[in-house]
Amino acid sequence: MKSDIRVCSAWRETHDSPVYTLSDSCPDCGAVAENTAPAPFNPSDPHGEYRRSLKRRNR
Ligand SMILES: [Zn+2]
Repeated sequence: MKSDIRVCSAWRETHDSPVYTLSDSCPDCGAVAENTAPAPFNPSDPHGEYRRSLKRRNR
């Protein structure tokens, strides 16, 4: 098991920021809480690399 920490699956619609919980559902809105294994944001930003390669091609 990687992590017990889960995040509210509907936090983008319901909350201003991710709501983390240790239970199966969000303590705030009751939505299903998802495992955080697939990170909510990607620090390596693959889209940034995509934009950079596009820029090179247009030059
Ligand atoms: Zn919630």
